[in-house]
Amino acid sequence: MCHKFFLFFLFLMSAPSLLAQQTYIHAGQLFDGTGDDIRENVTIIISDQTINAIEDGFLEPGSDTNLIDLSNQTVLPGLIDLHVHLEGETNPNRYIETFTMNAEERALRSVMFAKRTLDAGFTTVRDLGGTGANTALRDAIMKGYVSGPRIISVGKSLATTGGHADPTNGSKRELMGQPGPTEGVVNGVADAREAVRQRYKNGADHIKITATGGVLSVAKSGQNPQFMDDELRAIVETANDYDMHVAAHAHGKEGMMRAVLAGVKTIEHGTYMDEEVMQAMVDRNTYYVPTILAGDFVAEKAEIDGYFPDLVRPKAREIGPLIQETFGKAYRYGVPIAFGTDSGVSPHGNNAKEFELMVEAGMTELEAILSSVKTGAEVLGLQDQIGSIEPGKHADIIAVGQNPLEDITALQNVVFVMKGGEVVRL
Ligand SMILES: [Zn+2]
Repeated sequence: MCHKFFLFFLFLMSAPSLLAQQTYIHAGQLFDGTGDDIRENVTIIISDQTINAIEDGFLEPGSDTNLIDLSNQTVLPGLIDLHVHLEGETNPNRYIETFTMNAEERALRSVMFAKRTLDAGFTTVRDLGGTGANTALRDAIMKGYVSGPRIISVGKSLATTGGHADPTNGSKRELMGQPGPTEGVVNGVADAREAVRQRYKNGADHIKITATGGVLSVAKSGQNPQFMDDELRAIVETANDYDMHVAAHAHGKEGMMRAVLAGVKTIEHGTYMDEEVMQAMVDRNTYYVPTILAGDFVAEKAEIDGYFPDLVRPKAREIGPLIQETFGKAYRYGVPIAFGTDSGVSPHGNNAKEFELMVEAGMTELEAILSSVKTGAEVLGLQDQIGSIEPGKHADIIAVGQNPLEDITALQNVVFVMKGGEVVRL
């Protein structure tokens, strides 16, 4: 008797936590990310972190159900940005920070950038390179220590000696040292394998390589190839052993082509992509992540004296303005396009400006949005969890004041953000 009573008592104690927290969202317009239509006046039913159902009409909530009234807004899935750098943001002191900023400050500052990104409606991002604080930030957000988007992290990018992500570029000689695979600098096949395995050990989700020179590194060429075929193959094959994909930063054609043929998943920037590369990407289903916003931003800043070091300025002027045009050509050619901004080059939180630049270059509003929510989720292999408002998916939901299928700039004014069922901006 006593034993039974005790069990009943235990049941009573645990019962409230067994009941799912239920929320109704009344959505005036819903773009659910699965097709091209807008549904009017629906109720999205959310239990805990998950979307449970979508019903026609505005259902009356019971006394134990929260109601969020978005009956005057357009509701859509949380946005996905496949290319951000949450550890930094371009400013005229950027090159000095390497020598003055402690790791702790860098990590704490990244919390602020993560929050700005989430508040702008981006509920999932792929962080394509930092010192490793990006991976710690991912975990801190997952554990609920701080608020930010879901982060898919590559940790530190891989480069060759003197390559775009060699962390000692531009340092005086005694500070250059000789970084190796542990620091993400590889020369040869054995190094390449070791560097990938080290990233795995450090908790990275995927691998980023700098297949060609880049704009913002203190180095002469912004587009030369920087890995040999055997190194690229070693990186991709090793990464695939760990279920990691490889994202390749690439401006020049030769390095880009080598990366595509080696089997990378995404080409970032793609500035000097020609039709031969486009066809190779179509054949292999390699995604293009354009980052037009970054190109525009650096071209603009290159006009300011002293903003960039002398080696960087001409590259920013030359490469920056080309990306939007390349994007337009690749889009018309039929290259698979996935949304990414390189935010961190441009200010965090302005990510949605990229949609406007994509539409300006000829993409439809619908395709631009789908390149983020649908294709973004597919590239990450998370299409069963995120990218649309459907039963069973994480409740990552945002709202804007106007229909973005008619005015794409509406995405630059997000008024509501829910991530995993939790309201983070209202
Ligand atoms: Zn980048």
